[in-house]
Amino acid sequence: MIKNIIFDLGNVLINFKPYEFLLRFTNDKEYIDQFISKVTRSKTWLELDRGTESLENARTIFLSKYPQEKDFIEQFFDQWMDMLAPIEENIKILEELKELGYRTYILSNYIIEAFSYVSSKYSFLSLFNGQIISGVEKVIKPEKAIYELLLSRYNLVPEESLFIDDILFFLKPAKKLGMKTIWNRPETDLREELKKLYVLPQN
Ligand SMILES: [Mg+2]
Repeated sequence: MIKNIIFDLGNVLINFKPYEFLLRFTNDKEYIDQFISKVTRSKTWLELDRGTESLENARTIFLSKYPQEKDFIEQFFDQWMDMLAPIEENIKILEELKELGYRTYILSNYIIEAFSYVSSKYSFLSLFNGQIISGVEKVIKPEKAIYELLLSRYNLVPEESLFIDDILFFLKPAKKLGMKTIWNRPETDLREELKKLYVLPQN
């Protein structure tokens, strides 16, 4: 029986869509693709997730690496947290799960500064029984240690725990440890998936 519901944040409860966001500054789709792979898919960004690099430092690193793109990089770093908008239909589900008595947790690769930002902005982040944020814990998905940290810190039985993430390879370690999983793709109807697992009532 599932008792614990564990949520990823990015693209499960809070949007993270750099491509759509960058259309704010340019229509050059090729440039956007390049920028995304150079910045939000870079090693430096992973270090931000891991909490071993600060946002301020990261900005400096990118500016010195790509001086000819100074204005674009500055704009991005000034405004990127605007894209962290709540995904309302899934927050509604989270609230229903709380009311049904499930314990709820966060397991997310998230930059510390961004987590502080969303925590101060969105009250739903206070609804959780616990949270493992990569930037705080200095360990990231898909490293096994972060899943084990979640289970041990909150005394969770893997078989009683369901993990929801939009990235398939972040689900694999959870599955290996015995947790149930939902792959929340853009086309996924999360409510339906939760009904299939008898987590939400069938109506
Ligand atoms: Mg995500």
